[in-house]
Amino acid sequence: MTTYKFRLPVNPAQSLPPTRDAIAPSVTALPLAKQTQVHPKKSTDSKNASIFFVGTATTILEWSEIRIMTDPNFLHDGDHVHLGPGVSATRITNPAIMELRDLPSIDAVLLSHYHGDHFDPKVEGSLRRDLPIITTPHAHNHLSTKPGNDKFTSVYPLDHFESGLITLPDNSTAAIRVTGMPGKHVLPGPGHVIETVNDLLGAVPPTNGWMVELGHQSGSSGEFTTGYRIYISGDTMLIPELHEVAERYRKEGIDLMLVHLGGTTIPSPKMPLLMVTMDAKMGVELIRIVNPDLTIPIHYDDYDVFASGLDEFKAEVDQAGLNGKVIYLERGDSFRFDVKVSSQG
Ligand SMILES: [Zn+2]
Repeated sequence: MTTYKFRLPVNPAQSLPPTRDAIAPSVTALPLAKQTQVHPKKSTDSKNASIFFVGTATTILEWSEIRIMTDPNFLHDGDHVHLGPGVSATRITNPAIMELRDLPSIDAVLLSHYHGDHFDPKVEGSLRRDLPIITTPHAHNHLSTKPGNDKFTSVYPLDHFESGLITLPDNSTAAIRVTGMPGKHVLPGPGHVIETVNDLLGAVPPTNGWMVELGHQSGSSGEFTTGYRIYISGDTMLIPELHEVAERYRKEGIDLMLVHLGGTTIPSPKMPLLMVTMDAKMGVELIRIVNPDLTIPIHYDDYDVFASGLDEFKAEVDQAGLNGKVIYLERGDSFRFDVKVSSQG
């Protein structure tokens, strides 16, 4: 039986706009996907859930009537983002949805950490203040203590291995269980050199991965049953704690992993002092550790501080003989799958 740190009832029927200046949502659905891929084997005809890839680590997950957005980043090609004292990055791609006002209503945001390429200033300034945001305790502190009207009022912190449940009102049984997973931007380094660099840059906030379980709540007991399990790595290096993620879910199995790649190198790939996200080789290693049924790489080419692109990952996957286990999405593509009713939770 899971203990929930919060139960978050969402009401899509209210259909509030995601931005704070709008009165009604101007858009009611996601744009048509450029291309749609499906979960092989596990898909029947219904394919009742989907992930739309916007760019960087921004995805929009739809299950039943619930719509969740991860790590909202809507900067454009050429925009700069501040990542810490003395560290900035330039975006070199465009998001598949160009403006926040082009989004349909969003029920909750899942923010892996408080960093400009995951929650940029444009997003921070424009999002509706009472939009529920599930995030790290660190980001919770920042967002819920902003001065005056800028304060976010529905921020829910989850530490590693803590869970919250997103539910629908009335008779709908669909629900999403979100659990914080361990992640670290920086490997515990050999001695104090890394720490010094880290202190200097001050650019690496605490970060979460997520286990996002789509399923049903039974009416009488409220017990949650998982029908599809998605592990999102977050911006993490290959830390020993990731073995615990694999261990905890070995029996039930993980249907899909969204892995943050890019081999993000700060201050810049030309001055590679510190790598803060996994590169291609590490991504393949994580597939071996977590052993998900399927993997989709995200966060791989959107900023000039990303040193390890998708081609590099494709080559590593190929070499490891894992081609059948990875699906590639471009920005604007969507992935569809089935949330089963009876699989065990
Ligand atoms: Zn990042």
